[in-house]
Amino acid sequence: MAQIINGKVIATKIREGLADEVESFIKETGVSPKLSVVLVGDDPASHVYVRSKENACQKAGMIGETHRLSANIKQNELNELVRRLNKDRSVHGILVQLPLPKHLDPIAALNEISPEKDVDGLHPLNMGKLLRGDDPLFIPCTAHGIMELILSTGVEIKGKEAVVVGRSNIVGKPVALLLLQQHATVTICHSRTKDLGEVVKRADILVASVGSPGIIHGNMVKNGAIVIDVGVNRVGDKLQGDVDFDSAKDKAAYITPVPGGVGPMTIAMLLKNTLIAAKNAQK
Ligand code: NAP
Repeated sequence: MAQIINGKVIATKIREGLADEVESFIKETGVSPKLSVVLVGDDPASHVYVRSKENACQKAGMIGETHRLSANIKQNELNELVRRLNKDRSVHGILVQLPLPKHLDPIAALNEISPEKDVDGLHPLNMGKLLRGDDPLFIPCTAHGIMELILSTGVEIKGKEAVVVGRSNIVGKPVALLLLQQHATVTICHSRTKDLGEVVKRADILVASVGSPGIIHGNMVKNGAIVIDVGVNRVGDKLQGDVDFDSAKDKAAYITPVPGGVGPMTIAMLLKNTLIAAKNAQK
């Protein structure tokens, strides 16, 4: 029976530490770290995520503001808002909430964010530095949170077989690069991978970020593996991960639940990045 990696507890500890740091920072500088979130349209899940980011900022003693834009805004209006936030010295972190409505190009909007305020770590400069192993200013929050969860097990990553299922820019690719940096042997799977089960079975460390409930069954999990389930899938009135928890928990040594695993870490890392951005702005 696997040990549960409790993301909620780990994230709460990080957030408490950050709240103390924010308090000292404000005392020292008189500056309140501020995160500006840009939210376009009416996607209900995005509205929930953005509200929880605002609340988390407040609890950590930071300012969290949201710019709510109508779904039919034009690309140049969105880009112009980002440019305005870049120039605003009271704003330390900028996050464009994804997904954007279909007619908008997320890459074009992300490219506008100043790398110094790119607390989601998705600007090409920060992603390029991550690829080069060259200390990016910011690491994408979910990927960073996943690494913290893996490190919390105390299991050495060096030399382990790591399999990442999913190749998104926000999770799959950055987490694969971070595991590679820690000297794991990394395989990335995606929708055209032949025989997913056979590849997944090799994983000492498995990260599933697919968006397909229960796609990873316990019979695909290696005995003693670390299993990180990123998937958040609404099934009826419940949230389910990409990993079939009941069958996987009997094989894994460590496993994250959904909810209460990766999700809380994403926000903790966003707060951490916002404080780093505020500190860097005072240098
Ligand atoms: P995404 O952009 O939704 O893409 C899904 C990935 O899964 C793609 O790379 C896709 O392959 C791959 N895939 C689809 N079907 C597959 C299959 N049958 N076998 C193997 N791979 C398959 O990915 P994402 O943004 O990382 O999101 C994935 C999940 O994580 C979602 O449920 C999302 O809600 C959740 N998520 C949670 C958090 C959090 O903080 N908890 C943060 C981000 C995402 P192709 O590239 O070939 O299409």
